[in-house]
Amino acid sequence: MERILPTERQTRSLDDPETEVNAQDRRVSAAFQISPRSRLRDAGLRPTRQRVALADILYSRGHRHVSAEELHAEAVIARVPVSLATVYNTLHQFTEAGLLREVAVEGTRTYFDTNVDDHHHFYVEGESRIFDIPGKGLDVGMLPEAPEGMEIVRVDVVVRLRPKAGRN
Ligand SMILES: [Zn+2]
Repeated sequence: MERILPTERQTRSLDDPETEVNAQDRRVSAAFQISPRSRLRDAGLRPTRQRVALADILYSRGHRHVSAEELHAEAVIARVPVSLATVYNTLHQFTEAGLLREVAVEGTRTYFDTNVDDHHHFYVEGESRIFDIPGKGLDVGMLPEAPEGMEIVRVDVVVRLRPKAGRN
């Protein structure tokens, strides 16, 4: 995708070509037309009733960023009998399987992003609102060299916003 940074693309092409293939597979399975059941199977997760119900709620509304608490509230409204702890575990399982991306903005504030492509975020402070920076809205120039024995996985940038002073 265009949004992948040149530096990242270089790192990837130096890697085992498998990495790129896997990343593409994940992207394909994250397409929104897929049923929750096959989405889970494609990601190697057993489609239990709870997982299917949560995946259905998560992916039926296009790309979005939800916290565990928000998803739990939506599950309650949809009459899915599930505890907050289970929602939390399920979100982490989905993340590990590549179905979601975790975006940690503040210590206690973690969002789960249904958009698993490489992208960055705007965050409105005080409103706990997060959204994607559209298109090529950000160019991360120089990356530090990874420490010995390490490689850069990806770069997450959160650009923090607040309303301009004097605008009410
Ligand atoms: Zn996002």
